[in-house]
Amino acid sequence: MGEEVVRCTRCILPSAYPDVDYDENGVCRVCREFDMKMSKIDWEARERKLEKILRRYRGRGTKYDVLVPFSGGKDSTYTLWLMKNKYGMRCLAFNFDNGFLDENALVFVKKAAARLGVDLVTYSPDKELIYKAYKRALETTGEFCAACVVLIPTAIFRAADGHNIRLIVAGFSDILEAPPPETSYMDRIRFKDIMKPVFDLRELRWDYLFPSWKRMFGVKQINLPNYIPWELPKIYETLNRELDFGKTVADVRYDCLGTPHSSFLYRMRTGFGKYEYLYANMVRAGVISREEALRIVGEREPREAPEGFDSFLRSIGCDRSVLQGIDEKSLFNFRSRNRRLRDMVVKVRGMLP
Ligand SMILES: [Zn+2]
Repeated sequence: MGEEVVRCTRCILPSAYPDVDYDENGVCRVCREFDMKMSKIDWEARERKLEKILRRYRGRGTKYDVLVPFSGGKDSTYTLWLMKNKYGMRCLAFNFDNGFLDENALVFVKKAAARLGVDLVTYSPDKELIYKAYKRALETTGEFCAACVVLIPTAIFRAADGHNIRLIVAGFSDILEAPPPETSYMDRIRFKDIMKPVFDLRELRWDYLFPSWKRMFGVKQINLPNYIPWELPKIYETLNRELDFGKTVADVRYDCLGTPHSSFLYRMRTGFGKYEYLYANMVRAGVISREEALRIVGEREPREAPEGFDSFLRSIGCDRSVLQGIDEKSLFNFRSRNRRLRDMVVKVRGMLP
């Protein structure tokens, strides 16, 4: 890390982060908003609400009560473990292979599902279609992940619907993982607009655009970390004891082999790194120390194109010319767009499935 980077004195957010501003103690806006939000949360009430939701679905499905998206990462593994062993739900685990899934992750997914006594389905869509969507997303938005952001939730909904499951419980933690919406917001409407010029929309319908919004409304989706405190040390301890997970808090990484490339592209586009905000979130939530976060970020944050970057670009039909003007690209052009206007659009679209 260069000396010149100004960072929040509490988490590690750098000054390139959107609207970051620091107070007189050097504490950033995101930390201050976090404290406000957390002071209002009544975890006991939330867990009661969770139990009420689960009661409504338990024993109701044909064979399964709940579908759990299962990547093999700590959050989804812990979610599956809790659903099965603590909450007594009949689970179907759903794994999605975007074409860049780490083989070891898939081995763990199969082993863990078997040990938990849970049925597993995996879905790997046609590579040609996905790669074409990655290429188009990268060219227009500066990041190829946009394709997965739309494809994965649709695939999850369709899998639930197809198995007559009305509840999806995922392990996504807004507090720990959500990227800044300023840089990474994507929804179906925007996605359709982006893809329209290069796809026949019929090609996209099955994988990306769920056929019926009415049917989507019939499936409830919740994220477990919004209902119970998500304590990473306890999560790792449980998973290592019960499922030989074999990782620690410091090992946090993504199971997608595209991540080093997407992190590099992200930094080029936004001026700060994926790992910087990810570890800032963890420091803020008290999971690791500020010093450790800085050390990890210093080691892992890609300053230069990662190994295999050119062949990665080639695999999705691009080359380095796609980097030209990348810092001008984004979904809502977060550098210049009015923040309140963007927030409003995001809110309205958020009400859609
Ligand atoms: Zn901060």
